[in-house]
Amino acid sequence: LLERVEDVVLNRRADATERLLAVADSVRGRTASKAEDLAWRQLPVRERLAHALVEGIDAFVVEDTEEARQELGRPIDVIEGPLMDGMNDVGDLFGSGRMFLPQVVKSARVMKKAVAYLIPFLEAEKAGSTVSKPKGKVLMATVKGDVHDIGKNIVGVVLQCNNYDVIDLGVMVPCAKILETARREKVDLIGLSGLITPSLEEMSFVAEEMAREGFDVPLLIGGATTSRVHTAVKIAPRYPHPVVHVLDASRAVGVAGSLLSETRKEEFVAGVAAEYAEIRRVRADRNAGDRLGTLAEARAARFTPAAGTITPPRPSFLGTQEFHDYPLAELVETIDWTPFFQTWELPGHYPAILTDPVTAKAAQPLYRDALALLQRIVGDRLLTARAVIGFWPASSDGDDIQLWRDENRQGQLAVVHTLRQQMARSDARRNYALSDFVATGASGSADYLGGFAVTTGHGLDRLVGEFERANDDYSAILAKALADRLAEAFAERMHLRVRREFWGYSPDETLGNDQLVAEAYQGIRPAPGYPACPDHTEKATLFQLLDATSRIGIGLTESFAMTPAAAVSGWYFWHPEARYFGVGKIGRDQLSDYARRKGMSITEAERWLAPNLGYERGSP
Ligand code: SAH
Repeated sequence: LLERVEDVVLNRRADATERLLAVADSVRGRTASKAEDLAWRQLPVRERLAHALVEGIDAFVVEDTEEARQELGRPIDVIEGPLMDGMNDVGDLFGSGRMFLPQVVKSARVMKKAVAYLIPFLEAEKAGSTVSKPKGKVLMATVKGDVHDIGKNIVGVVLQCNNYDVIDLGVMVPCAKILETARREKVDLIGLSGLITPSLEEMSFVAEEMAREGFDVPLLIGGATTSRVHTAVKIAPRYPHPVVHVLDASRAVGVAGSLLSETRKEEFVAGVAAEYAEIRRVRADRNAGDRLGTLAEARAARFTPAAGTITPPRPSFLGTQEFHDYPLAELVETIDWTPFFQTWELPGHYPAILTDPVTAKAAQPLYRDALALLQRIVGDRLLTARAVIGFWPASSDGDDIQLWRDENRQGQLAVVHTLRQQMARSDARRNYALSDFVATGASGSADYLGGFAVTTGHGLDRLVGEFERANDDYSAILAKALADRLAEAFAERMHLRVRREFWGYSPDETLGNDQLVAEAYQGIRPAPGYPACPDHTEKATLFQLLDATSRIGIGLTESFAMTPAAAVSGWYFWHPEARYFGVGKIGRDQLSDYARRKGMSITEAERWLAPNLGYERGSP
């Protein structure tokens, strides 16, 4: 049944509808199991509420809450009695690994709907202020310049359903606003979140400001590029109070509980401090061992494609082409589902994750809900997909790539700056820079570089707002996660069409989605800010070339995060030997050479490339 439903939703075969109808016929009239499912409706109201919370069923929650209110007399007794009991069960099941995040977020939705129903009664009693004392107040924010908040929102929901009062300041929150709110609201914990590398610097800055202003509130650090090592080495030393990296949402409750516990706090804080001190010590030793060559040595070991063997293919057009209202149904085919489950902290690969005995119970309903929402998004065109791609005559010049106005290659259009791996090599391995994959000007070969920006985020705020107003964080988070998946799928789809049509160097390519996910094709699409090209500021050049902001409405924040968040951009390299790599650490010589090429001060370049510096800033 699942396969046939998927065939319809994903439009996988021409006869999908007929095949689904055929199955439908065979299960017609089998409603017995449905009736059985509802047996819990016969239980006493307390147990029904507990069941609804643990199973995440919101269909009857309003009527059950009302019944409990009539039975118990006061709304506050419903919250503090059956609802809190149910949420405690959820907390225990989650804490002991018997429940996964999607289920918890669904439980929270049931709780929120019940509480929303009771609020008018609480207000009528003027008892709002006597609602059970929360365990603590947590301020959460995605830092300035960053826009991603799925993980942060999940953590917020999980903390809320464990009876923490959460103040969520949203995304792109300046340091001053975080500190001001923390002081005014007398919060017990501050949690900072971020996705892109410039946010790491911003978090260090917030820590420093907290120290300067005399705060002593513990600081929690989370988000995709954050790590225990970064927290230990770069953030903790700047704030003389607890700083803790929280790996994922499932740890947040435990960490918050320990930090706010009178009895456990001291031991927990001492343990983290000792662990981080050890990380710093090991790092210091290892750094000394991480040998970098000089920039000159690295350049001498550059990668040179076998000369003259292949003539660079000419794209079917030069300049840019934009796509508005791209059919969403076409993008559904190229979705890579594995990262979708990762977002919800479900380990494993799609599709095995749907049948694995450990994950199936959580993964299947989540996937079902995702497909249903996806169908609504596609059918009602709730999101708008827009893209712009471009190709330009290009030649490499050392570690830079020059782009030309036209094929005469006289007038310069832009310069793309790339960074070179600088690790000392004792073997035949090369020190790559992306510029190595473009023919040099001297070679006489007429080469090209491509670029793209895609988004599926237009319309998302509206959809998310709708869910949030309905107290449905689960669907709000689901919608964001799906928009991200569609954006990646769009990048995959456009890349495929570039290879087959627009650049046209692989006109006969026929790869299944598994092979696309494995990137088993010729050419790469490295994204500025990621390991092969870690400098986010190069997005300014890419966006200027594509005119992406005015054409398809993707903006860049001061940290070069793209808005809307469901957006992907990057460069296209056609060369068969082009590959992804990590630049890794660079030396002072390369940093200053790079700053000069970019017309940036050393200090500024060091700030943008902080995670890549193989030396201490400010040291001689
Ligand atoms: N199928 C995945 C695709 C995203 S991750 C998904 O749906 O989420 C892979 C992408 O990340 C690549 O296509 C490239 O754009 C980027 N990427 C991966 N490794 C990179 C590297 N070393 N440098 C720059 N970009 C990289």
